[in-house]
Amino acid sequence: MTDLTKLSLAAARKGLIDKSFTSSELTGAYLGAIEKANPSLNAYVAVTGEQALGMAKASDAKLAQGQGGALEGIPLGIKDLFATKGVHTQAASHILDGFKPEYESSVTANLWRDGAVMLGKLNMDEFAMGSSNETSYYGNVINPFRATGSNANLVPGGSSGGSAAAVSAWLCAGATATDTGGSIRQPAAFTGTVGIKPTYGRCSRWGTVAFASSLDQAGPIARTVEDAALMLTSMAGFDVKDSTSVDVAVPDFAAAVERGVKGLTIGVPREYRQDGMPAEIEQLWRQGLDWLRAEGATVKDISLPHTKYALPAYYIVAPAEASSNLARYDGVKYGLRVTGKDITDMYELTRAAGFGREVKRRIMIGTYVLSAGYFDAYYVKAQKVRTLIKKDFEDAFQAGVDAILTPATPSAAFGIGDEAMANDPVKMYLNDIFTVTVNMAGLPGIAVPAGKDGQGLPLGLQLIGKPFDEETLFAAARVIERSADMDFSPKPWW
Ligand code: GLN
Repeated sequence: MTDLTKLSLAAARKGLIDKSFTSSELTGAYLGAIEKANPSLNAYVAVTGEQALGMAKASDAKLAQGQGGALEGIPLGIKDLFATKGVHTQAASHILDGFKPEYESSVTANLWRDGAVMLGKLNMDEFAMGSSNETSYYGNVINPFRATGSNANLVPGGSSGGSAAAVSAWLCAGATATDTGGSIRQPAAFTGTVGIKPTYGRCSRWGTVAFASSLDQAGPIARTVEDAALMLTSMAGFDVKDSTSVDVAVPDFAAAVERGVKGLTIGVPREYRQDGMPAEIEQLWRQGLDWLRAEGATVKDISLPHTKYALPAYYIVAPAEASSNLARYDGVKYGLRVTGKDITDMYELTRAAGFGREVKRRIMIGTYVLSAGYFDAYYVKAQKVRTLIKKDFEDAFQAGVDAILTPATPSAAFGIGDEAMANDPVKMYLNDIFTVTVNMAGLPGIAVPAGKDGQGLPLGLQLIGKPFDEETLFAAARVIERSADMDFSPKPWW
């Protein structure tokens, strides 16, 4: 039998329906691959083997009768940010030690409703704060890709680094991820995978550990555009339990994938042309535009004048919301408790021991910008800037643009412990320069692998769409995927 783990999600689905193999076989193959690879890649923080085989068996019974949901029997990895009932859920933080929720997140519940199988929980940056997966309490995730001729370990990106690495290294057929400023798209770009952050409100946030509630969105990371479309169709949907979830119909996203781009207008924002941007990325961007043009799209220069304020404004809004969301971890209700001489002492000791450096930095920044004397100067101002960023996009769409093409990241994957970034958090924050505007505006954005740099490392392009128009993004990303026509699988060294 061919290696089942190498099949795309769509092909695996077909194989299950045709009874070429069973979900138990497919799930067993993935569990074997995880056992072999995880000591090297550190993508999973918990493997739920027994549960997986149980779910697979139940799927097999349905499939044998020609029944089952849209993802029946498909083994998936779940980012550690999603609450999974009775299963390890720690947002890769020490402070949630031993936390096993009593409830299931709406996104994962939707996946199980459609028949998917849970392989385990995926590593991530602590509380989804980071761009390299180095802030995880469980240690770095390693990128399955290495530069040609090098044995040096690279970061998989973050915060959904475990999701991206697991998908790229064939340790699941697809994975859930979340994106607050770029955490789906940046790791997807660093690992040659496809990641979509849908419109804010498309997926329920209920049961997903909150980082910055007005920015957080769940989405899939997958090996192909079609696979991402299949997963999002199951993950998305209105949910009364999340007041920011939007009551709009979920289209069959996979049906939009082959729609093409004929007649579409693709915007190219001049502000995304960064000084010092590597020539390879500039070149890839131009190549992407040529591919879209060749398939009948029109390319149009646009201006998004407030782009340069997006990152600074994000680093006010996101820490502000995080400082409030993370106030609940105090040793009383969840996870870790370090006892002290009185209750205040207990709070302080627990939070000091439980949170890592980056999380503490965010809590301090957030508390500062929300404090009485500074609220108007920082937080209120940042919210105003956010409105202007959103308006930039609205103006572009109003002027006839259907989608916007940009690079996904300013570089390819970098080294673990990269000194420049370790010494200067702002350098790390710059990873999200192209993605963070999209969260600030609540828009959908997809990262699709489009080429490789001189060292053989994957590079991605990003498409940004109108609210609730993920279908156009899937269609345009598919054109890029098809035109690039490149193998984005890593060479296994693990
Ligand atoms: N890298 C960004 C941050 O650390 C975005 C993270 C995310 O999207 N969750 O805030």
